[in-house]
Amino acid sequence: MSILLRPDSIIVMGDPEVKSRLSWYISVMRDEKPAKYLICKRVNAEFNSEDNIEELWREHDKRAREFKKIYDEIREGKLSLNELQVPKISFLDLKIEIVNRMLRECIFCERRCKVDRRVKAGFCKLDANTYVSSWFHHWGEEAPLVPSGTIFFSSCNFRCVFCQNYDISQLHPHGGVKVNAEILAKISTTLRREGVRNINYVGGEPTPNLHTIVSSLKYMNINVPLLWNSNMYCSEETIKILLEIIDIGLPDFKYGNDECAKRLSAAENYFKIVARNHKIMHDYPIDMIIRHLVMPNHIQCCTKPVLKWISENTPRAMVNIMEQYRPEYLVEKYPERYSDINRRVSWSEMNEAYEYAEKLGICYKPVS
Ligand code: SF4
Repeated sequence: MSILLRPDSIIVMGDPEVKSRLSWYISVMRDEKPAKYLICKRVNAEFNSEDNIEELWREHDKRAREFKKIYDEIREGKLSLNELQVPKISFLDLKIEIVNRMLRECIFCERRCKVDRRVKAGFCKLDANTYVSSWFHHWGEEAPLVPSGTIFFSSCNFRCVFCQNYDISQLHPHGGVKVNAEILAKISTTLRREGVRNINYVGGEPTPNLHTIVSSLKYMNINVPLLWNSNMYCSEETIKILLEIIDIGLPDFKYGNDECAKRLSAAENYFKIVARNHKIMHDYPIDMIIRHLVMPNHIQCCTKPVLKWISENTPRAMVNIMEQYRPEYLVEKYPERYSDINRRVSWSEMNEAYEYAEKLGICYKPVS
């Protein structure tokens, strides 16, 4: 099937850069190593429902250190999952408790609405419910990822004026099927059994659904790499939760400055937040393919600063330099207001982006 639909998805696996930069992802994908969430289930934790959030985070930090030691040993082939006992209360249980507490005063992303989502929706228009607009085997993702078991969550914490998924992210934030943790686990397990290489949490945006995603892992046991496909505007607390769960990151790095991010996505302090999250993920280390969408007339202000930052701060990451920008949604509706991005990217702009990446030594060819 892979050979027929995307021959590059097979060929790319022989690329030495891919083998080295995505080594953990590939080993889980091939069932040679256990997904990180399965390791989380084997790490002991001690807490109770009376503990306050500070106490829970202290316990989390302690268990995160233990996890890292075990994870490193598993990576190096010195330990296997079967050698670890199943504890009564696990590190995953602790993470579930923390995300459910965070939901009561939501700080999943840097909007930090602090609303109790059990009774009220925040900027993302979501209360505690999670909606999935579709799930399927995605053949359009980067070659090492396909077929990707993609789960599209409705709603978003951004307001991108050019959004290509605006129907699910903006117009119908409650569209699709309402899912709880158990249903999400069943969807993920079924996708893997059908042969996908990974579970790809995307949207809209997965971040507002953190509680459902983390809780779903309690009901899963299948070995599959978990992929975080996000705008990376999540809080530092959310990144801490994800570090021991996500096997590969597929983060967006769109804007090279805060002004463009504010005007085109209604996101404040974009660069500092998104750069911070990329850096934390990279340094853990987590395998990453960073996506940069090249936009017309934004080569100097966005593409070049983003590529430069990546080359200096996250050099192990692969980068997909994307040319598929199209003027849609509000750009199509109000072309005068968004005249700078009211066209496709030109060949000369794409060439300028590729040449600049080449000059910086960025690894982009196998995934662009
Ligand atoms: S996920 Fe972000 S936008 Fe949504 S309620 Fe929480 S902090 Fe606000």
